[in-house]
Amino acid sequence: MANVLVFAETRGGELRKLATEAVAAARRLADATGGGEVHAFVAGAPGVAQKADALGRYGADVVIALEHPALATFERESIAATIAARAKSASYRAIVLGFSAQGRDLGPRLAAKLDAPIVSDIVDLEVAGDALTVKHPGYANKVMITLTISGSPAIVSVRPSAFSAQESPRTVRAETIAPAADPSAARVKVTQVVEGSKGRPDLADAPVIVAGGRGLKAPENFKLVEDLADAFGNAAVGATRAVTDEGWRPHADQIGQTGRQVSPQLYVAVGISGAIQHLAGMRSSKTIVAINRDKEAPIFKVADYGIIGDVLEVVPALTQAVREAKKGH
Ligand SMILES: Cc1cc2nc3c(=O)[nH]c(=O)nc-3n(C[C@H](O)[C@H](O)[C@H](O)COP(=O)(O)OP(=O)(O)OC[C@H]3O[C@@H](n4cnc5c(N)ncnc54)[C@H](O)[C@@H]3O)c2cc1C
Repeated sequence: MANVLVFAETRGGELRKLATEAVAAARRLADATGGGEVHAFVAGAPGVAQKADALGRYGADVVIALEHPALATFERESIAATIAARAKSASYRAIVLGFSAQGRDLGPRLAAKLDAPIVSDIVDLEVAGDALTVKHPGYANKVMITLTISGSPAIVSVRPSAFSAQESPRTVRAETIAPAADPSAARVKVTQVVEGSKGRPDLADAPVIVAGGRGLKAPENFKLVEDLADAFGNAAVGATRAVTDEGWRPHADQIGQTGRQVSPQLYVAVGISGAIQHLAGMRSSKTIVAINRDKEAPIFKVADYGIIGDVLEVVPALTQAVREAKKGH
């Protein structure tokens, strides 16, 4: 029986979907050790402690809130110092983070401060006795690497959408904690946060992603991708590097080896060839639909459904079909 600490990340004061997935992963881990507790750590401006009930719904037994006006944005130094201080004063088998910008920043800081082992970007975990075994995709998602982590606390970050946020309600004990380092004295400060596609879910949170490639021919044709995403209603818009390099879409939309790694329920690839560097960011999507006029395009090797045709004709028809199907519900 061992306790697990999880960092529940927020953005703009709201819990991210990835936070609830990380709590669900921590719950699974704590249960597998024979019934340990899940301690969720949440940091933000005053008021963030109110997220305790939501975290309890996904399986947190204890919510540790770090509140400070300077934490309205992600202040990595203060958060890392406070989590590390907590981990030193309590005994945790593992610290779970999201594999996100925040998690990628915090993980190595915590590993260094605690002299602890770290595995990033895990998609599965299991506990047998003292051994914590995790799965981590490697070589651009071509192989699955199984690692056993000895030493506590083991720091792991979970890939977005790899663990489903299942409700497992608990009666939460709420605690507040003082910062171990003054957030207003941080050496690294967030000076500006630029929002991506306004009014759409983030690529990491969206259950559906419609992504466009060079096959769209011109930036204005991305309207077809936007329309299809709007028809789904809960979709984010992504792009290939060819497209972001051309300046048709912002770099934040790029999916792939040097862009975002995503794993939605549904990925619609519009005019995308399926280069290995693009597949590295999306091949773990649950269902992949590809539209391409070249039946030999490599994207069809990973697609569950393929439509061979001109995107300028197929996408409007698909959008119409989705709208019709939605009307019936
Ligand atoms: C180090 C490195 C890192 C990289 N990182 C990334 C990355 O993170 N993400 C990424 O995406 N790429 C990355 N790339 C680039 C990658 O190799 C490809 O060049 C890129 O993914 C191709 O984008 P694309 O599919 O939009 O374009 P293309 O490869 O040009 O494919 C366009 C496709 O559209 C189809 N098409 C054309 N017209 C139509 C039409 N009218 N109707 C239907 N289909 C049509 C074509 O048949 C073709 O398959 C990286 C490359 C390198 C070297």
